[in-house]
Amino acid sequence: MSIATTNPATGQVLKTYAPMSDEQVDVAIEGADLAFRQLHGTTVAQRGRWLTAAADLLEAERDETARMMTLEMGKTYAAARAEVTKCATACRFYAANAERMLADEPADAGAVKAKRAFVRHQPIGPVLAVMPWNFPLWQVMRFAAPALMAGNTGLLKHASNVPQTALYLEDLFRRAGFPEGAFTTLLVGSEAVDRILSDPRVRAATLTGSEPAGRSIAQIAGRELKKTVLELGGSDPFVVMPSADLDKAAEVATTARCQNNGQSCIAAKRFIVHADVFDAFAGKFAARMSALTVGDPMDGGTDVGPLASDRGRAEVHAQVQDAADNGATILCGGELPAGDGWFYPPTVVTDLRPGMRMWAEEVFGPVAGLYRASSYEEAIEIANGTSFGLGSNAWTTDPAEQERFATDLDAGSVFINGMTTSFPELPFGGVKNSGYGRELSAVGMREFCNTKTVWIGEGEAGVGAGAHAE
Ligand code: NAP
Repeated sequence: MSIATTNPATGQVLKTYAPMSDEQVDVAIEGADLAFRQLHGTTVAQRGRWLTAAADLLEAERDETARMMTLEMGKTYAAARAEVTKCATACRFYAANAERMLADEPADAGAVKAKRAFVRHQPIGPVLAVMPWNFPLWQVMRFAAPALMAGNTGLLKHASNVPQTALYLEDLFRRAGFPEGAFTTLLVGSEAVDRILSDPRVRAATLTGSEPAGRSIAQIAGRELKKTVLELGGSDPFVVMPSADLDKAAEVATTARCQNNGQSCIAAKRFIVHADVFDAFAGKFAARMSALTVGDPMDGGTDVGPLASDRGRAEVHAQVQDAADNGATILCGGELPAGDGWFYPPTVVTDLRPGMRMWAEEVFGPVAGLYRASSYEEAIEIANGTSFGLGSNAWTTDPAEQERFATDLDAGSVFINGMTTSFPELPFGGVKNSGYGRELSAVGMREFCNTKTVWIGEGEAGVGAGAHAE
């Protein structure tokens, strides 16, 4: 895959980049290792000042940065501006809270026969971040902000279609004051990942992307005995029960499916509606989906811009066609538009059955699958019936049902009467083939920390009954 900016709204290649050589990558890894040692001598407060400076730069440069993202991957300009703001907020959150998250945690010294015992959270070194194009700033920031605050350094291998955003991120952290090498962008293709992750100086990897990419990195990391965090795909359920406010549910369902032009890992993708309200919800939802404006992502009146790549659009259309060919009903959309750019209309497909691609696969575009469930139990069965488990949504005003959904949905998060999103304050991640590990919150920050046990005694020979000689 070439490393290039191609405008998805026109299909025009705007800028291409030569991939870095192995020698250039080695220099970058050496720089990340040296910067890690340098960060060792800095305080959390100092790193917080640098991260706050990064937030200030993001806010000052919001419009240009948003335009660059829209040009590279087609999200609407409004969504791109919101993404920049979200990144600045996350930087400020970690700058303000890292001291608390990284503080030593005292243990019961008496119970472990110590004079003093505690747990210390320490950085581990350079971490490789393999990132996707769909939220080209945010996906990186939610790794980088906590990792840098903890004192780790970052090596970014960004998706090959967002090189300008990738280079901007390196420049941002440098201008914010972080030492040279603390955060470096590697302009390389995915074939370079094995060599980078095999380097002994690279201590761990985080990947946000597809299931095949996750499997590949996990294999390399397994061979090299390195820690990984994997944020992979999802086919999130959005369950609507009879007590739900159907107008609100249909409105949020539309946003939840079509945000980011339908290309979000935590977009609601399967809409599972109780039979009592199925027809009413289906009508409202299809009406809202077909009323969305598809077009130029720079235009303020556009709801849905183009998909990021021609290949991605072809895949989405093939999934819809497979369903239609096998007896599914298309309530709206489903036709490839003529003209330039990789646009796809908001589409609702129902009468889906096992065996159709849409039943089991993630659809990475503005296409909703609509399912009928005759009971709570059947809704849960359909909701949990894929290999994914990233986010999930349920709409019900019944408090007992809300509790049941919170427990029974097999996913990394459950959002009741709202749409799945991410917050710096809350852990984010999945189960099953959606990956493992967590990003964000203190839990995410500690994924790339050494949770070190420190035991300080008086120098006795034995530590007493109950201690294990391990
Ligand atoms: P992708 O092909 O997996 O690409 C993501 C990143 O992985 C890119 O940097 C890509 O590099 C790299 N990559 C691809 N194959 C690789 C391999 N075999 N070894 C090492 N690196 C590899 O993902 P995508 O299709 O562009 O993005 C959409 C997917 O990401 C969806 O499945 C979506 O659900 C998922 N996603 C998950 C989350 C989450 O938080 N769970 C968030 C956003 C997206 P190149 O660009 O050079 O190929």
